[in-house]
Amino acid sequence: MEEVIIIGSGCAGMGAAIYCARAGMNPLVFTGSQPGGLLTTTSDVENFPGFPEGVNGFELVWKMREQAEKFGARIEDASVTKVELTGGIKKVECGEKSFDAAKVIIAVGSSPRMTGVKGESELYGGRGVSACATCDGAFYKGKDVAVIGGGDSACEEANFLTRFCSSVKLIHRRDQFRASKIMAERALSNPKIETVLDSVPEEILADEKGFCRGIIVKNVKSGILKEIPCKGVFVAIGHKPNTDVFKGQVEMDPEGYIIPQSGSLVKTNLDNVYVAGDCSDKTYRQAVTAAAMGCMAAILASNSK
Ligand code: NAP
Repeated sequence: MEEVIIIGSGCAGMGAAIYCARAGMNPLVFTGSQPGGLLTTTSDVENFPGFPEGVNGFELVWKMREQAEKFGARIEDASVTKVELTGGIKKVECGEKSFDAAKVIIAVGSSPRMTGVKGESELYGGRGVSACATCDGAFYKGKDVAVIGGGDSACEEANFLTRFCSSVKLIHRRDQFRASKIMAERALSNPKIETVLDSVPEEILADEKGFCRGIIVKNVKSGILKEIPCKGVFVAIGHKPNTDVFKGQVEMDPEGYIIPQSGSLVKTNLDNVYVAGDCSDKTYRQAVTAAAMGCMAAILASNSK
């Protein structure tokens, strides 16, 4: 039987893996479908302590993985399909394979939220709609694109896209940005970015070949519809927790965020089941806080009987 299984391989999972491995727990980590988690889709991370020049998101989380492996963590590139966590022995299944563990740390992160407007799912993945500028931005060299959202992600994506694109329309549903001051100011002062405020997407339009040719937005104050020609639409409106597999066992809020028990940020309602990172935290959601939660979960797991 495994002493501890860690589900997830972003900053939270890797933070937990480093601490569990150094505590001699010989952790087994399942990466999920996106090894390294969401940070692998970020460009420069400028606020992770210790990197005054900034650090590439992919590089940062990959170094965490190397660090965990150096201390003996075993990392399996597999997704967990079923769990049974309520009993004393925890069962974790990855397809046909089943594993028993004394303790489990859930660090499954979150996935991008989409708007659900007409045309979005049809054009997603190579036809003009994306949720990751870092992954897909280079395909839009010399083109006009739009970004939807008003948070740090939207501002960061819009700025990043100006490296390649002729122009970026930043479409936000209010007239105030949710993004931190520095990120918003960077976007607002970028000459290639034009803001389209108080506006929500209505439809993403396809050309005759089935590729994005524009977006229709509605001004929420005037009700006026406007068509913005663009070859790409990047959706950056937040995330939803990847917790479906734990439903009915671990206590969650209506949005699917795992609820930490009072007095602890990382204890779930189940004995010897801990949680870390964006699948539980909807307040801070930072690489540094996710890694720190992984550390906390690992310390509690290593101290528990
Ligand atoms: P977020 O802060 O939740 O912002 C989501 C944005 O999308 C908000 O502006 C929201 O509008 C808008 N939105 C939500 N649903 C919408 C819908 N259906 N249609 C149109 N617009 C919609 O999410 P985030 O920007 O992904 O950031 C998440 C966390 O990661 C934050 O804590 C952020 O600080 C952090 N982050 C940090 C960095 C960095 O420091 N380098 C980079 C990226 C993210 P409202 O404002 O009206 O609610």
